[in-house]
Amino acid sequence: MDHKLGVTVRLTIAPPAVTVDVSGCVTLPGVNALLPIIHRASRITERATITVDVSTARHIDQPALEYLSFLATGVGSEPFTVLAPKLLPSCPDAAKLISYGSAV
Ligand SMILES: [Zn+2]
Repeated sequence: MDHKLGVTVRLTIAPPAVTVDVSGCVTLPGVNALLPIIHRASRITERATITVDVSTARHIDQPALEYLSFLATGVGSEPFTVLAPKLLPSCPDAAKLISYGSAV
């Protein structure tokens, strides 16, 4: 299955803040791809608060969100805040595969 990840980085100068807006599918490989982006974004402005917003992602895997939340504590990188919905959306592409496989 082809999970696609989209990222938009927004900077605010005063007060310094970096927001990484994530769209598409949040999976474990996607979280690994996000890390260098978070690192680079945090270096653009010093002492910036960093927020990773996955609230509008179309698909979020629970293990990926748990891993992202673990990394947000600052393990091996800058600490950051994660904004996520309470109900995690499943992949629309997976739903298509299920409907094609039904015997209706
Ligand atoms: Zn997906």
